[in-house]
Amino acid sequence: MQDCIFCKIINREIPAEIVYETDSVLVFKDIRPAAPVHLLLIPKKHIPTFFDLEPADAALMGELQMAATEVARRLGLQNGFRLVSNTGRDAGQLVFHIHYHLLAGRELKWPPG
Ligand code: AMP
Ligand code: ZN
Repeated sequence: MQDCIFCKIINREIPAEIVYETDSVLVFKDIRPAAPVHLLLIPKKHIPTFFDLEPADAALMGELQMAATEVARRLGLQNGFRLVSNTGRDAGQLVFHIHYHLLAGRELKWPPG
């Protein structure tokens, strides 16, 4: 997708601190970290929101969640992490390419605001 900032990161058109990559998934540091560890996990396929998911995307979304497990193991996040995804206006979604935020490195409040 031409005007998508995350697709540009996938295509190396704009820089990002990439921490993990597979054929189908990319993980990089959030540019405005809200916690000591704040990563974004994205599928390489451009899917705007969870409302746009189709049954054929189920395996891909599974890979995305498994990437969280793998990255958490590699970074030694035994104390825990939070995986969140904002969908649509009420949740404050800013980038319309599906992503999970992985937050860790401090005690995280619940519920979030
Ligand atoms: P969301 O509100 O869930 O759509 O959040 C989008 C996230 O993308 C925000 O936390 C931003 O800080 C982050 N972000 C936006 N542009 C970039 C970028 N170029 N590199 C890394 N993170 C970004
Ligand atoms: Zn995209």
